[in-house]
Amino acid sequence: MKTKYLFLILIVLSFFFSCSQEDGIVIVEEPFKDSALELEQAKLAIYAMGLDTTFMVEWNNYYIVEEDILLCKDSINLTSTRQYHATYYVDNYQTITVGVDNTIAQSTNWREATKEAIDVYNKYTGLRFVYNEYNPQIKISKSNLYNAIACAQGEFPLSGKPGSKIIINDSFYKNIDTFLSLSQKKFLLVHELGHNLGLRHTNGLGEGDGGVGLVQIPGTPTSDSQSFMNSTTCGNSWNGASTYDVVALKTLWPKCIISFADGSSLPQMEVDYGSYLSRNLIPTSAKGIFAGWFKNAALTIPFSYGETIIGDITLYPKWRDKTNVIRLMAISDTSASTVRFTLSQVTPVTFLDIEVERGFNEWSEISRFTEETGVTLTKIPASFSIRTFIEPYIWNANPNSYAIYNWQDATVLDPGEYVLEARFTKSLGLQNGADGKHGVIRAVIEY
Ligand SMILES: [Zn+2]
Repeated sequence: MKTKYLFLILIVLSFFFSCSQEDGIVIVEEPFKDSALELEQAKLAIYAMGLDTTFMVEWNNYYIVEEDILLCKDSINLTSTRQYHATYYVDNYQTITVGVDNTIAQSTNWREATKEAIDVYNKYTGLRFVYNEYNPQIKISKSNLYNAIACAQGEFPLSGKPGSKIIINDSFYKNIDTFLSLSQKKFLLVHELGHNLGLRHTNGLGEGDGGVGLVQIPGTPTSDSQSFMNSTTCGNSWNGASTYDVVALKTLWPKCIISFADGSSLPQMEVDYGSYLSRNLIPTSAKGIFAGWFKNAALTIPFSYGETIIGDITLYPKWRDKTNVIRLMAISDTSASTVRFTLSQVTPVTFLDIEVERGFNEWSEISRFTEETGVTLTKIPASFSIRTFIEPYIWNANPNSYAIYNWQDATVLDPGEYVLEARFTKSLGLQNGADGKHGVIRAVIEY
């Protein structure tokens, strides 16, 4: 019996170390919460240790195998919870490609789950994730991890770059592809991606440094049972990031902040890394008419709308004296259906009273011909255009009336030559001039 007690101690120790297996970069996940599944998982693990699990049973805090060997369950249940990251986590403001490889069959929904998982990080972080199966930075593959008590494994980052692989354990269940639902796969991949970015288990205090560091994330609480980074969550369905998961993500990887200086009427805003500044943001001031954004207070370095936002930035508005307002109108199916104009400087342009009047056709008949009835504003040569068509608005129309739509919109245009065009669909047949039998569209702009 003595040798068996010694064996028992060794087993308990080995279980303890399996809890701390985040050393050596690879992270081993904990088993399912569900007790039946947990028992099955424990059997696999204990069998892998060379024990006979045929008559294995649970007893209080133990599993009993081979009649008299007790295996402590508590040794794999860590109770202290808090959000943590490893010493190294990925640098903010970078694009990270993620994709599955050909070890994962097209017929499975791992690809869909991956896309949904990266959307979580796109939503809450200043990182930009792109799904790409060609040589991705984080490759998701399936392999037999015979000795792992895990649905999957992630890999901690190195030098600011994400861990390069996530391995889905093909031997954990007979068929993990069908065993896990799309929602469970999404949860699993959000969790593993967290490791690849540098997140450790929220309940990971007992796991120790593990050679990769264990640093508490500021603003996160001492306990968060809803965190997707808790261990022992393999098999959970996705129910969204917890409040403090979001705090953790936003603390480590905040989104880009755009601040507007010098009396701009616009509030500070948070935008995605790699996004563009909207032309619809037009500041107003008693100083005059907005005449473009600059990157410095001296207004010598212009900001272009074609530039992507890749970090925090302060933009300075330029103001010019008010000039006479210019009004232009385009009317479909007349000689004025296209109107040309030239802007000598950056200018806010307001779309005013863009009206669509229908003749004897129903709105549904007109909107059937998509992108044929509306207003376009195009820079010449055609490098930039604003297109507004009526289909998205048609569903609000009263089908029994000769309704008129009114749009009011404003945008900032760069210097150059432009064409404003009002178009009514020709697919319903010939028109009869300005008061067309099918309808007419009129667009007024002002600057
Ligand atoms: Zn984990």
